[in-house]
Amino acid sequence: MEDDHRQLLGNKYEKGKLIGKGTFAKVYHGRELATGESVAIKVISKEQVKDQGMVEQIQREISATRLVRHPNIVELREVLATRSKIYYVMEYVSGGELFDKVKGNKKLKEDVARKYFQQLISAVDFCHSRGVSHRDIKPENLLLDGNDDLKITDFGFSALPEQKRLDGLLHTQCGTPAYVAPEVLRKKGYDGAKADIWSCGVVLYVLLAGFLPFHDVNLMNLYRKIFKAEYEFPPWFSHDTRKLISKILMADPERRISIEGIKRVPWYRKGMSRPHSFRLLKDKDKNRSVTDLTALGSMKKSTSSPSFFNAFELISSMSSGFDLSTLFEINAKKKVASIFTSKYSAATIVERIERAAHELRFHVETEDDFKIRMEGTEEGRKGALAVTAEVFEMTAEMTVVEFTKDSGDTLEYEKFCEEDVRPALKDIVWTWQGDDGCSSNGDVCSSNGDGEANGNGIGYSC
Ligand code: ADP
Ligand code: MG
Repeated sequence: MEDDHRQLLGNKYEKGKLIGKGTFAKVYHGRELATGESVAIKVISKEQVKDQGMVEQIQREISATRLVRHPNIVELREVLATRSKIYYVMEYVSGGELFDKVKGNKKLKEDVARKYFQQLISAVDFCHSRGVSHRDIKPENLLLDGNDDLKITDFGFSALPEQKRLDGLLHTQCGTPAYVAPEVLRKKGYDGAKADIWSCGVVLYVLLAGFLPFHDVNLMNLYRKIFKAEYEFPPWFSHDTRKLISKILMADPERRISIEGIKRVPWYRKGMSRPHSFRLLKDKDKNRSVTDLTALGSMKKSTSSPSFFNAFELISSMSSGFDLSTLFEINAKKKVASIFTSKYSAATIVERIERAAHELRFHVETEDDFKIRMEGTEEGRKGALAVTAEVFEMTAEMTVVEFTKDSGDTLEYEKFCEEDVRPALKDIVWTWQGDDGCSSNGDVCSSNGDGEANGNGIGYSC
């Protein structure tokens, strides 16, 4: 396997062992040959980039990371490109992910959580002052260095000022739902800086609680809770943390506290001995370069790709984070689920599913306009097949449909999905879960697209 081999990059770096996997990339330990210094090398395959029409996003990440230099932001040293891959050479951050500190319902003491939160706010404030919003703030993207100081990584979603529309709002939907602000989910156009503050609030909650403020086995309920900012404080949250978090987790972005506001809160200021000063840049730091990006720039953006992350990607990224995955696993053990996204309205989709089911001679029963129960007329190996389709209107432009098997044989259900449902709904489906977000070589892909239910708990059978 490629992962086990040391590899030279441009006669300048040695690529070592795999240290992390993200949504789109693999991150390796590396060494600068001249200095022996450790670096982190993030590898993205250009095929993947081309497949997903992500050239713009990558370029955004490069410029954003180069724009923001701050002690709590992972530094980008250099970008190298070969014919097939893009390599980001970054500062190596040795202490792992902040995520590890809260994994398995572990929680942090208030003083410890505050320190990380102060560093997070300091970095985010600095980004915002430069017109850059991060837009994917979550513990997996917050690393710790050897001094236990926080470093933000993964500027993949960040947007630069020139990409703002005239109204100053961002119109792309991205991020991981559990940390995403309601206005981002509503896809109405939003202020990236305000959305970042929401995510910082979720991070603070998670650090103090050991679990997420918003979670639900049902995706629509999760969205609903986020829209309404509906959460509870665990009993051990102090009065002051409750006050601060409730000012941050304010559903209306207009009423949400600003970073300036956060910085004035006594709870936040506690123990801030030193101002967040910047280390002087070393001489070698001044000569950053971006190498051979011509090839990257010349790659065509795939026009067929959606301009924002689709629901499947939202769902799959959610299922790989935190305790939600266990909830999904429990759920998935009972039933095999299959999900697709569509740009059609719920009414059209319901009508199409009903028609398809009638043609297959299934008994059809539609409940409250969004739930269709179908029962086969033929006896299968384990009785008649019974399937439910639930239609969730996520936004005005996107609907998610989830099929679950209520009874009958799993293989027969999978065959039904594959051979009956899929072709019948072909023209209204945007993406089937498992079809999108995975390149055929699987090189830089974290979820398997091979059609089987996988470890993250959501079935991939359709
Ligand atoms: P993606 O954009 O695909 O999500 P990330 O940039 O978040 O990729 O990196 C994925 C993982 O790799 C991180 O969660 C972390 O564990 C590890 N990682 C990333 N950057 C560094 C770094 N500079 N030093 C050490 N580990 C890193
Ligand atoms: Mg990441």
